[in-house]
Amino acid sequence: MTRDRFQGSILGLALGDSLGAPFEGGPLERMVWKVLGKTRTGKARWTDDTQMAIDLCESLVASGGVNQEDLALRFAHGYRWSRGYGPAAAKLLKRIRYGRDWREASRSVYRDGSYGNGGAMRAPAVGLYYSSAPDLIPTAARQTAEITHAHPLGQEGAVLIAAATATGTTTDSKQAILDGVIEHCRDATFRNKLATAGSWLARDERPSPQEVAKILGNGISAPESCVTAIYLALHFLHQPFDQLLAAAIAGKGDTDTIGAMAGAIWGAVNGATALPEAELARLEQRERLEQLSATLYDNRAGSDRAGPTN
Ligand SMILES: [Mg+2]
Repeated sequence: MTRDRFQGSILGLALGDSLGAPFEGGPLERMVWKVLGKTRTGKARWTDDTQMAIDLCESLVASGGVNQEDLALRFAHGYRWSRGYGPAAAKLLKRIRYGRDWREASRSVYRDGSYGNGGAMRAPAVGLYYSSAPDLIPTAARQTAEITHAHPLGQEGAVLIAAATATGTTTDSKQAILDGVIEHCRDATFRNKLATAGSWLARDERPSPQEVAKILGNGISAPESCVTAIYLALHFLHQPFDQLLAAAIAGKGDTDTIGAMAGAIWGAVNGATALPEAELARLEQRERLEQLSATLYDNRAGSDRAGPTN
């Protein structure tokens, strides 16, 4: 486990997000992102996926673990309409910003809780922070997802992505990472999709991006995107990042979030040094993300500088 792997995971998340974003959704979303997708200096902007991962990293470090009140406020204050938050997330975060309790705000938007992939897209931060204390990952991932995703499936997606990222920092074995995910899987939909992904990987099958999207999913719900991201990261684990990204984009659908989750897992294994420099040079706030990864590494749970965990 090295700083380079932490940096690779956070930068991989931001690259997958920012490079996948121009291809997300339908023609209207793409046209809007053509305008919003560049900074004033021409850098590639990232979306809500990276913003919430940043909020989560900062909260974990500041609180010495999961602190749902702190996290809810950071999510609310990190919200910017121009980063492509979904309409329900936007409503919920604005309510928290105006002083509503996050539990009540969350249920006021989704009565049964959201099972979108928003809890999972930021979960690599949990996997990294607890990579030296993996027993704490399931509860921590659920708690960090719960602010916006009260539905168990939304939370389970977060657990699986966090587990994949955490295991990724310690191994380069596809099977070990898959086993690390399966260990935490409870829901039958996730489990069946993981079994399919596992058999593709074991037999070195090469399904087309369209087949992957059709069978594992490419949508905005956690069951329709998390296993897809895990599978893509593992399939392309020992190939260049660009190939992973091209496959995530070719699968269409929620390309920025699938790119972000897959990029974070791939980056946790291969490290920042393996990421494409040309794309990194064009990434918005690259230095901030590098600094944040180093801080997360130095303060991770179980390290000398970490605060109390809860
Ligand atoms: Mg997004």
